[in-house]
Amino acid sequence: MNEPSQEGREAADLSCGCVVMKFGGTSVEDAAAIRRLCQLVARPSAQPRVVVVSALARVTDQLMSAGEAAAAGHLDSAREMLQVVHQRHQNVGGAVVRGELTRLFGEFDAEFTALDSLLRRIASDKALLPCAQDSLLGAGESLSSKLIHSALRSSGVNASLVDARECIVTDAAHTRATPLWDETNQRLQSVVLPLLESGQVPVMGGFVGATRDGIPTTLGRGGSDFSASIVAAGLHASRIEIWTDVDGILTTDPNLCPEARRVARMSFDEAADLAYFGARVLHPATLAPAMRGNIPVWVLNSRNPECPGTEIVAFCEPVDGVKAITTKRGVAIVDVEPVRWFAPELLREVFDVFERHEHSLDLLSASRGSLALLVSSVSGLPAIAEELKGMANVRWENHKALVCLVGEQVRRRPEIASQAFRAIGDIEVRMICQGASERSISFLVEESRAEEAVQRLHRAFFSNPEPAMERRASLAMCQAEWAWHGAD
Ligand code: ADP
Ligand code: ASP
Ligand code: MG
Repeated sequence: MNEPSQEGREAADLSCGCVVMKFGGTSVEDAAAIRRLCQLVARPSAQPRVVVVSALARVTDQLMSAGEAAAAGHLDSAREMLQVVHQRHQNVGGAVVRGELTRLFGEFDAEFTALDSLLRRIASDKALLPCAQDSLLGAGESLSSKLIHSALRSSGVNASLVDARECIVTDAAHTRATPLWDETNQRLQSVVLPLLESGQVPVMGGFVGATRDGIPTTLGRGGSDFSASIVAAGLHASRIEIWTDVDGILTTDPNLCPEARRVARMSFDEAADLAYFGARVLHPATLAPAMRGNIPVWVLNSRNPECPGTEIVAFCEPVDGVKAITTKRGVAIVDVEPVRWFAPELLREVFDVFERHEHSLDLLSASRGSLALLVSSVSGLPAIAEELKGMANVRWENHKALVCLVGEQVRRRPEIASQAFRAIGDIEVRMICQGASERSISFLVEESRAEEAVQRLHRAFFSNPEPAMERRASLAMCQAEWAWHGAD
């Protein structure tokens, strides 16, 4: 294991094990939500706190719509959309801020003037380019951080505003940027640590960063969770709190199964699999920095703060079975069939072509005669198929969904698979991935059957446990083919 550097140790001492509190869109959506946030941050605590906030609920989507409208030549309606967002921030600000309202409204005016010019530029470009999109969408977090900073000060918290774009340094992969870790850690330590030392509560927007040259970037939709763990890792925080609108990580998406119940504890790996396979409650990249720093993550409900939530830690006692079920929609299956025979060079070439086209792969499975890949977007596939012409025939089908069972014991308990396939026996399963991940089984179904599959599986594993005898039924019951193995 790497010993922390002298600098790292000093930073750890200075940060005194701070807590990073991240509040998602619904936890800052209106005056009532922001008052709850202020109460949570103002609670007496021995530990210094850093607050990371998302844009107000739906604002990112509204900014995106304004950008798309401008790009399509509808500048007037784009500006009207912006006006609605401006008005909402003023209304909420007026309800929660005392004393600093003129300054805050001045900051909003400056922000919206810049956004107006940006919309004009997008309209003249006739396109919403990734770089412009990042400046546009990132404004949501910039506005909310200013609003919440003022609201916290109005409620007596010694808060100070930090521009996340000065701390989170990223590459230039607009709309899905990756942090440059060393620079980000240095900036966090030089900008945020002194504030903690002097007893202040730094407030910063999630989701956003900037390149070394200061060009705004974003970390991908839902990326404020990731921001919280980047900040926590850089400051050697003792805990990350993800404040959201549900009681923690639930056994499945409550929109699919209202009877879903809270999972009290999960391992980092389980939560990472769950996020990777589509559970919106955490951005998929969130767990890696927390794991590296061994920083526990709590998922908590800002509307029900007394609920203990879900604790995510390095190790937790394995539960005998499935811990949660998730689904990822909008998946396409790509069949790559070699023109002659399957050779390792083909695998290399396929990876290279996907990389050149910056097309990510969700899962991969190889058999003697072909290769099956799962991807979340089909946009680059025609060009990829063209490049592979002569070596392989590439065909794809979209509108599929991955359904995934997660739990530390899932792989060691073959009866889980048989129970799962009994529950969804009449739903066609196209591909099964088990083995590459220690703790999950996932399988591909038609998107139109995904909801039903999750509901049936949830009933099978969480409402109506089968007798042990039945659970030991043979794997032969599985109708699907077990040749597939997915990448973790
Ligand atoms: P925030 O705005 O706080 O970031 P999100 O909307 O991104 O919140 O994530 C919380 C939502 O995730 C919940 O309201 C719920 O609808 C959805 N969700 C999906 N799967 C799960 C799950 N397994 N546990 C909890 N919530 C889930
Ligand atoms: N506001 C951003 C989004 O809606 C980031 C986030 O909320 O995490 O995607
Ligand atoms: Mg979220």
